[in-house]
Amino acid sequence: MNGMAPVDTHCPYCALQCGTVLTPGGPHGVTVQPREFPTNRGGLCRKGWTAPAVLTAPDRLTTPLVRREGVLHPAEWDEALDIVAAGIRRVQRAGGRDAVAVFGGGGLSNEKAYQLGKFARVALGTAQIDYNGRFCMSSAAAAGLRAFGLDRGMPFPLTDLAAAEVVVLAGANTAETMPPMMGHLDAAQLVVIDPRRSVTAARALARGGMHLAPRPGTDLAVALGLLHVVVTEGWVDEDYVAARTTGFDAQRRAVAPWWPERVERVSGVGAAALRAAAALLGAAHRRGAGVFVLTGRGVEQHATGTATVNALINLALALGLPGTPGSGYGCITGQGNGQGGREHGQKADQLPGYRRIDDPAAREHVARVWGVHPDALPGPGRSAYELLDALGEPDGPRALLVFGSNLVVSAPNAGHVVSRLEALDLLVVADVVPSETTELADVVLPVTQWAEEEGTMTNLEGRVLRRRRALAAPPGVRSDLDVLHGLAVRLGQPADRFPAAPRAVYDELRAASAGGAADYAGITWERLDAGEALYWPCPDPGHPGTPRLFTERFAHPDGRARFVPVDVDDVGPAERVDAEYPLRGTTGRVLAHYQSGAQTRRTPELLAADPVCFVEVHSDTAAAVGLDDGKPARVVARRGAVLAVVRTDDTMRTDTVFLPFHFPGDERANLLTNPALDPVSRMPEFKVCAVRLEPVDAVPGHFPASEAVS
Ligand code: SF4
Repeated sequence: MNGMAPVDTHCPYCALQCGTVLTPGGPHGVTVQPREFPTNRGGLCRKGWTAPAVLTAPDRLTTPLVRREGVLHPAEWDEALDIVAAGIRRVQRAGGRDAVAVFGGGGLSNEKAYQLGKFARVALGTAQIDYNGRFCMSSAAAAGLRAFGLDRGMPFPLTDLAAAEVVVLAGANTAETMPPMMGHLDAAQLVVIDPRRSVTAARALARGGMHLAPRPGTDLAVALGLLHVVVTEGWVDEDYVAARTTGFDAQRRAVAPWWPERVERVSGVGAAALRAAAALLGAAHRRGAGVFVLTGRGVEQHATGTATVNALINLALALGLPGTPGSGYGCITGQGNGQGGREHGQKADQLPGYRRIDDPAAREHVARVWGVHPDALPGPGRSAYELLDALGEPDGPRALLVFGSNLVVSAPNAGHVVSRLEALDLLVVADVVPSETTELADVVLPVTQWAEEEGTMTNLEGRVLRRRRALAAPPGVRSDLDVLHGLAVRLGQPADRFPAAPRAVYDELRAASAGGAADYAGITWERLDAGEALYWPCPDPGHPGTPRLFTERFAHPDGRARFVPVDVDDVGPAERVDAEYPLRGTTGRVLAHYQSGAQTRRTPELLAADPVCFVEVHSDTAAAVGLDDGKPARVVARRGAVLAVVRTDDTMRTDTVFLPFHFPGDERANLLTNPALDPVSRMPEFKVCAVRLEPVDAVPGHFPASEAVS
């Protein structure tokens, strides 16, 4: 093919970052095989097996596109970059530095995420940067910071789960979203908290585990009720609480009103089941067995997501799990570089190394690495949805640069977001394939993807991995780092301040992270290439890294974890049901697709598995409005409506419908979702909104992306 040897790398999709080997050849330039790696142990899901198809997508972007008289036309790179730079200067001259905004992605490599944050703060001088990880991990990150003083999704290697006796999966459908992870849970009894009988919940029940199915929006009541039972039944690990935590007394009082029968009334989870689940956890820990509490987007993507995660962390702390060998609390990161992406500065309030942008010492350190004065660095900017909501408004940005994100499909309240994107003077999108967002862009920049580039990623365990190049990029395609270099130089930056070589960027990232919470200083390129398993923090090249955090002390100054007070009278979604919108709509992922579907809908095998949006609903709920299995339906919320095929499932709650969010056009579940924000994390409430279901004549499935590849 191109003379390259097989290379060890990782799947481009989720945060499990399954180990793969790519061999040159085949219709897509490389073939993929799984390899032995601790997270996947020789397995892959169907997305990993089929990932090379996106490399040769028939409509792959291979030339810059520039909009003229309303139509995107091919352009030379110099021409496209000149137009972007001139547009940036024009917008900033009229509206100031913050008139240009940047939106990144949790799939970008560490180097791209780092360089994007630096580009925004130094080359653009704007505070207005955030990324789609805000929609993914922010509630768990905020809760972990509050409780432990440090956010690393899993503070232990995934392989620790293999010895667990009981594992709580709260809002995580891992059997569909990361199937190889289920192999680590084979020996455990699972307690799955999920409004629907997901594949994971069904597997738990089949193996003698439990499924607690709260009404969408009431997970917090379940979490408080579990701690109530742990307290009243005497399952609290008092020695651990006394030695390693603070604040328990207040939380003990706060859960007193959440007795199981009250939780049942609020959430629909039976009091007996709640007691049984708490006893399962408490008894297992009491006899020294491994117990883990893991959270996912199901409990996190709420206007009360941070409180819910803190309530579940409080449960884990009361049981004495975090930092105890063989037990723990963890959050299951979703996007491929969701962990690294939130450590290196593309988040509105952060600088590299998981530093706060409002910390004078952090600003001074990073400014020194970047060769600028600390006063030149802007302060914190708007969070992702607030940024999108402000686009084109009188006091908001008038230009937006998007890297690795398909906002038109993945942002909440998507119809409104489209109207804000359309109000911009300049929209620039760098991506590998056309997307619903590139369709709106003024300039589209074609960039490289996983198998065509070198770099590093950080998986859900906080382990840093090497991504390796296995084939040449198509002619006309440049890396995101090249794009940022080209733009920075055009904006007057010294050429060597924005290197385009991944290794050079990574070495600078290590220096910028040194001394920060996420310290990569000792994780050298050479050590990664030698196959060392290196988890941050790793402050120097002689340090072994930190696979397990919190074994001796937590990251707060006194070394103790915090019971963060979660004291509420009322639990429920931000938007309540009524006569017009009587059902609770919830959203999630399916096995065949990933995020906005821009990649997986271009993979024929994956598209065939789930070609159109569906709405999963109990047959009684469907029949009540004249619908049946296989019929086209419209799901209507206050913000928009979605076309979907009815999929009846009598394990569904009769008050709930489920839609996957991977589909475009009229099938976008995010046309429905409520942008009500969590007050701490600024996470929108993706997981519940009030909807109604109605019959419709139109047949879903006629969208451009599927037609392009079918
Ligand atoms: Fe592994 Fe996730 Fe890729 Fe599937 S999508 S092969 S679970 S990394």
